[in-house]
Amino acid sequence: MYYFFCYLCVSNIAIIMAHPKPKILLIYTGGTIGMIENPLTRALEPFDFNHLLDNVPKIKMLDFEIDNFQFDVPIDSADMNPSHWGQMAKVIEDNYSGYDGFVILHGTDTMAYTASALSFMLNNLTKPVIITGSQLPIGEVRTDGEENLITALQVAAARDSDGGQMVREVAILFQNSLLRGNRSTKFSAGNFDAFKSNNYPVLAHIGLDITYNKEALLRPSRGKEFKAEYMMDTNVVFLDLFPGIPESVVRSILQIPELKGVVLKSFGVGNGPNNPWIFDCIRDAVASGLLIVNVSQCSNGMVSPMKYTAGVGFANAGVISGHDLTSEAAITKMMYLFGMGATPQLAGKYMEKNLHGELTE
Ligand code: ASP
Repeated sequence: MYYFFCYLCVSNIAIIMAHPKPKILLIYTGGTIGMIENPLTRALEPFDFNHLLDNVPKIKMLDFEIDNFQFDVPIDSADMNPSHWGQMAKVIEDNYSGYDGFVILHGTDTMAYTASALSFMLNNLTKPVIITGSQLPIGEVRTDGEENLITALQVAAARDSDGGQMVREVAILFQNSLLRGNRSTKFSAGNFDAFKSNNYPVLAHIGLDITYNKEALLRPSRGKEFKAEYMMDTNVVFLDLFPGIPESVVRSILQIPELKGVVLKSFGVGNGPNNPWIFDCIRDAVASGLLIVNVSQCSNGMVSPMKYTAGVGFANAGVISGHDLTSEAAITKMMYLFGMGATPQLAGKYMEKNLHGELTE
């Protein structure tokens, strides 16, 4: 379990003007967007924030007040862990009332995990938390980082007709789309169009104009105070099925000491091998207090466990349906629920409920 502590160092980087100009806090965690080539090894390494901003002089054309917070050491997002999520949540919590919106610059590799985790950790959001990054470093001629960063700032500053922020949730902005964070998945390692939200419509289409899909945007209930939660319990695991998976593999995963939750990645609508041994293993694990949640290996569609015998077997053995959760949302939601101290029964109940737009009930 992780406990989070952090300090804040916000420096003013840009156009210092009084309200009512949009006031945005830019949080730089690292990732390709801010990387530069090491001349000796030719590998990409994270560089500091000023380098990044020097490469996007157009930011100054936005009539915004922008401050920044930078991770002490910018990281490749492959190194991301729940303590970093806690650090981001703390920066947002400490600065919540002072800003109209937040933009997080992040590596693409684990962006969908961070977006999902933050969607659970940041409760009753009424302000945008827009996460973006890029496939090419910002200093490269053909970079996608400049456009992504500028559009993310514009989305974070956008207002709805009721005067409130247009986006009131954690979202990923990448190339042509604004996507719900906990519905997103990185699907391409090579294209600029790298993220998809397979089970939920885009929140906005980024073309000549930014066209918001108002019906898809989350509108949290009014009057509830914003609150960040910091505890994430990492005693969870993915169990990814494949034809021929040995009993010893399934058994040893389900018997990991301290394990609390398993995201079972199943075939199609929630199926697995129709072998008595797998149902026995699962039944024993559930009886001993393990939470097992079924999500599909398919990137589109949802788990319907009662459709085939194999799925019925899982359900009868005590496996909970993850409906149309992404893997990223399922594992981070489990971390969050166990971090909040939920019992396996309670966590199982909430895994099937829609908390922050992550699941279709
Ligand atoms: N490895 C990089 C990261 O996730 C890749 C990227 O930013 O696109 O930090």
